[in-house]
Amino acid sequence: MVKDPGRLVEIDVVDLRFPTSRSLDGSDAMHPDPDYSAAYVVLRTDIGDGLEGHGFAFTLGRGNEICVQAIRSLWPLLKGLVVDEVLADLGTVTRRLTSDSQLRWLGPEKGVVALATAALVNAMWDLRAKRAGLPLWKLLCGLSPEALVAEVDWRYLSDALTPDQALDLLRVRVPGKAAQEARLMESGLPAYTTSAGWLGYSDETVRARARDAVRDGFTYLKVKVGADLDDDIRRCAALREEIGPDRRLMIDANQRWDVGQAVEWIGHLARFDLHWVEEPTSPDDVLGLRAIREAVHPIGIAGGEHVQNRVVFKQLLAGSALDFCQIDACRVAGVGENIAILLLAARYGVPVCPHAGGVGLCEMVVHLAAFDAIAVRGEDPDRVVEYVDHLHEHFLDPVVVARGNYRLPDRPGYSTEIRPETLSRFRFPDGAYWAEDRGVSGQPGAATTTDADLEGAPT
Ligand SMILES: [Mg+2]
Repeated sequence: MVKDPGRLVEIDVVDLRFPTSRSLDGSDAMHPDPDYSAAYVVLRTDIGDGLEGHGFAFTLGRGNEICVQAIRSLWPLLKGLVVDEVLADLGTVTRRLTSDSQLRWLGPEKGVVALATAALVNAMWDLRAKRAGLPLWKLLCGLSPEALVAEVDWRYLSDALTPDQALDLLRVRVPGKAAQEARLMESGLPAYTTSAGWLGYSDETVRARARDAVRDGFTYLKVKVGADLDDDIRRCAALREEIGPDRRLMIDANQRWDVGQAVEWIGHLARFDLHWVEEPTSPDDVLGLRAIREAVHPIGIAGGEHVQNRVVFKQLLAGSALDFCQIDACRVAGVGENIAILLLAARYGVPVCPHAGGVGLCEMVVHLAAFDAIAVRGEDPDRVVEYVDHLHEHFLDPVVVARGNYRLPDRPGYSTEIRPETLSRFRFPDGAYWAEDRGVSGQPGAATTTDADLEGAPT
């Protein structure tokens, strides 16, 4: 009798929400009240080795349930597939998810259906790395150039980068990979902190957190701007005073401005010696970003956390609209699409500075940044990875940042696994936290959509 191969048999999907809006953690000019949330997937097999894949997409609260449903809608495309075949060819499986003849109408390759794809693909990569007994970054670094190129969906890219050109980029790194890995194990990856400068924080909090960051060894800090120019000038002045002239200061407008307004506003803040301006306008506006970039030079333009797929990244990079490429672990179609974006950034010589403002994003992007530093772009003095110090305690393998540098993870997997007690406590709306919240206040929880909640929300 032929033994049945192990198959993907089941997923749990959890609507997980943290009440971060209550402390204004994560607040910015467009998102004043985020509840950091995850549409969280646990992927199970019938192999019996106890290994599960964990992945998620990040959202800000309301609407997380739509992402959860989209994951459930995609799951039939994976259910019953043979585990070994899936994990050996995640490029093909990812394309299966992005190419479904009916579901693709919801995107294609953008919006909620793309977030849901990211959650599932990330879970599959987590499972692959766990079964290999390696942290994800090390698994990726151990793949041959040919194997990495096979993970990429090359549709729509050939005018900017071909598979053969990508192979050339990757082969250049092969002889130096071991030495670079050893160096990074020693030094870590440079991090910057956003935790001093959320828009909802008082000036006193901003100053205190900046002093903490300097004491902790950070040499880059980022502050949210874009709601009120006088406030921005005052906060940038305070931050520059706290961090001194030699540390780098970045600002993030979270898409707040039109092009002309951005140029004018940035002009008022340029005196604070800005390293970059992040998302000054719409993330889709390639021409606008390029115009701003040309006008505010030598201040750099950063973006990418809301860029929906590799095709838009191609335009931003080939079109000279970005100085810093901010990949996101959960917005595009998971690891494979991020490999494509890392290759495009390397092709155009743009440093990759991953976005990590959210729950679990720090845990994930450190893997992608390490892979980039070892096997794709290699050494780059401008690579700096975002760090926010929220919610790490909920992860089984939380990031470690010491003296302003990420340590490389050493546990097998993608560091995506959330503690079971967290899943039961913060599951929305019936987890213990949200149930207690309703009981105590007699009102719906902060993440429940009501007309009152929507008042004052950005439009
Ligand atoms: Mg940002």
